[in-house]
Parts: sequence; C-alpha cells; structure tokens
Amino acid sequence: MHALSNSETLTLWERGERCHPLDRALLALSFADRSAGESVADWPLGQRNRALLELHASWFGSQLEAWAACPRCAERLEFEVSVLDLMAPLPEGNQQTSVAVEEQIFRLPTSRDLALVAKSSGEQEAAIRLLELCRIGGVDSFGWTDEIIEKAGESLATADPMAETRVALACPACEHEWSDSLDVASFIWAQLEARARRLLWEVHSLASAYGWTESDTLALSAARRALYLEMVGA
Ligand SMILES: [Zn+2]
Repeated sequence: MHALSNSETLTLWERGERCHPLDRALLALSFADRSAGESVADWPLGQRNRALLELHASWFGSQLEAWAACPRCAERLEFEVSVLDLMAPLPEGNQQTSVAVEEQIFRLPTSRDLALVAKSSGEQEAAIRLLELCRIGGVDSFGWTDEIIEKAGESLATADPMAETRVALACPACEHEWSDSLDVASFIWAQLEARARRLLWEVHSLASAYGWTESDTLALSAARRALYLEMVGA
C-alpha cells in the first residue's frame, strides 16, 4: 500500500464527501487497492476492518485517537489505541466462512448486507433482516426466536472476531470499567477530511499571497509549504 499523495488526498475526499460513512470506507479501500474494485463490499466485515486498520497505519500512522463517554458518570475519556492492539490474530488454517445454528446455515455478514439493513426500524428487525440475508441453507419452515437470533449472532462473532473491534476502557473519575465498540471505518475518513481541509487552507493561503495554483502548492513538500506559510504570516 503506497502513501497517499496530496492530490490523491483531495481526490478521494471529494469523491466520498457526499457518501454514506459505510461507502466512504469502501471507497478508501478500493482507492488503495484498485484490483479489489467493488468486491470490497462483499468482503466479510472482519476482512474489511483488518484492511481499514492496515490502511490507517499506512496513510495516517498506527495510533487511533478516540474518545468515549463513561456510561456511569458521563466523564469524557480521550484515549489512543494502537492499530496492532485492535488486530485479532489471524485464524489458523482457512477462515471459517459460515456457521450452523439450529439447522440453519449462515455466511459471514458483509458491508453490502449492512447497507441493506441500515434503514431497519429497530435492532431486532435489523438483526433478523441481516440473518435472512446471510442464511444460505437449512429448513425453510422455522420462526425467528430470540434464542436463535442470539445464538447466530454469537456464532458469527466467534467465526469473524474482527467484525466488531472492541476496546477495554476504565474511567479515571469513577473507576468504572467497560468495553466500547470502535467504528474503524470512521477513523480513516476523519483523518482524510482533516488532511484535505488543511491542504485546501494551505492552497488558499499561498494562492492569496503568491498567486500560485493548487497544483503548484500541492507539488511543494510539507516543509516548504510550512515555511512559505510562516513567511506570509498565515
Ligand atoms: Zn465514570
């Protein structure tokens, strides 16, 4: 995975600016790996999350800066977590691609599945729709019970441990301990957007001072841009 150039940063940010967060993550992945193309939407979520973390490390470094509110006292907790700490070990042998629960067989959920259930009216409905999309075998005449939904969810989480990335947290104010889910997809875009905005501000400042074009400014190294900005007092 190569580093992201200044003009690529702006191109990618512009393409994804109006997209749903889920699509932005896929856009970043297919931008980084052109050979993957649209197939990234059909990757199991763990494979997608692993690739997103690797992409973050390659483009923006291996530390994720995040915050969470303590569920007991509402204290705002800022923390850093390393990409490596969020990576579950790769499964030995072939990755399990399906699970069997109560005579039903489910494949691992993908980003495409998540997009299809995103407009469900509640958690229960979303869970059932997701399982229906992922059901690839079993008897047709059965009903969705809480038990089968829960068991299927647990089996799928075990088969694809990186489908959800969780981090253990402790509140410094009240010592409450809990674990929170991190949306790895949102981190890439937050960094990309911050870098794009910074670059556009630099282009604007240097164009105002020297009349340079966007490509003139983007072709300069970061050190030169910083020095010119210092000289024009921006
Ligand atoms: Zn607390």
